[in-house]
Amino acid sequence: MKKIVILGSTGSIGISLINILKKNKRQFKIELLTANKNYKKLIKQIKFFNVKNVIITDKKSFLITKEILKNKNINIYNDFNSLSKILKNKNIDYTMSAISGFDGLEPTLNIIRFTKIIAIANKESIICGWCLIKKQLNKFNTKFMPIDSEHFSIYALIDDIKSNNLEKVYITASGGPFRKYPLKFFKNITLKKALNHPNWSMGKKISIDSATMMNKVFEVIEAKKIFNLKYNQLEILIHSQSYLHAMVKFKNGLTKLLIHDTNMTIPIFNSLYPKFENNIISKKLEIKKLNTLDLQEISQKRFPVISIIKKLKDTDSLFETVIVVANDCLVNLFIQKKIKFIDISNNLLKILNRKEFIKYKLIKPKNIDEINKLSNYVSLKINSMSI
Ligand code: NDP
Ligand code: MG
Repeated sequence: MKKIVILGSTGSIGISLINILKKNKRQFKIELLTANKNYKKLIKQIKFFNVKNVIITDKKSFLITKEILKNKNINIYNDFNSLSKILKNKNIDYTMSAISGFDGLEPTLNIIRFTKIIAIANKESIICGWCLIKKQLNKFNTKFMPIDSEHFSIYALIDDIKSNNLEKVYITASGGPFRKYPLKFFKNITLKKALNHPNWSMGKKISIDSATMMNKVFEVIEAKKIFNLKYNQLEILIHSQSYLHAMVKFKNGLTKLLIHDTNMTIPIFNSLYPKFENNIISKKLEIKKLNTLDLQEISQKRFPVISIIKKLKDTDSLFETVIVVANDCLVNLFIQKKIKFIDISNNLLKILNRKEFIKYKLIKPKNIDEINKLSNYVSLKINSMSI
């Protein structure tokens, strides 16, 4: 039986993985599940898989979970400090890191020592802490797999090829709900409209990032770090059908494409079964769709945040944390209906141009405390600004 941990089991990615595990229940033992608030879903998962260790970070939800499960002999914790107590000597085979936002970084870093494979969906942790993650992966001989569909596809195309053979990597973008939306109506975009992604069903935060196109900015940074590229080797292309997930141009003249259904189950499933040990039931991709491989340049006028990429340096820096945390704060303000949709991009660009933040482009992150300290500083600053 493979021993599994899921960080963020009640989210969109977590549930997709749970659904795969459900179909093959006898092959897996879940050693730990974590959630933030959704105790109802978490309790269902605990019962189905007979899980003995859970972390639920929201205090109120933690207390409710404890009360509901009080006679069940289950260890319920309120924070990630208990990770080593839970996982010591457990020899985990596969961990999925699928917490949303910046808060995914620390648990991801801390869990690497306990697991043979870490599949990371939480892009924010790769963006802010890749140099620290890489150190942990090497130190504990843990295998890494990217789960973001574009990165999983690039990884699948170049797995056996050194990245210094890569000339260019194209990151495809569906264009989100506002690919063709009239610019004059952008100022009135509602939360409901922004959450309504035409092709993908995802958590709230990433859906908003897809609507502003910040998600692609993150994916370019993510790809740069994972595959050790330079920013000028990466390009975003609008591909509204969302079936082409990676296009990689090699220095030997070949260009490889990876195509699959618009469904996150595919990268998740393949990270779990990397050697074709099992079959996936999925909708068959309509091959005729490939007759219209629609690829277009992205408009900076429509999606101003993509200008952020041009200003990035090729070296790892703390500035990436500023970008992630500033965006997290602004997206939260929009979700709470405190700012307008266009204020996310406008304010993000203004904030990233401030001298007090630009200076972090020159500082390489040394440890998690430094990243956390900066994150607290950025959120405090933004929440005290009049936006
Ligand atoms: P969701 O919002 O659907 O789920 C997030 C999960 O993390 C939930 O289990 C949630 O718990 C938990 N969580 C949220 N905040 C905290 C916190 N502060 N501490 C501990 N746990 C927390 O997100 P997604 O599944 O959509 O995305 C997860 C990650 O994967 C993100 O980083 C996203 O960018 C990335 N990703 C997602 C894709 C997708 O298709 N969804 C595609 C590619 C990447 P609770 O439910 O209790 O609130
Ligand atoms: Mg993606």
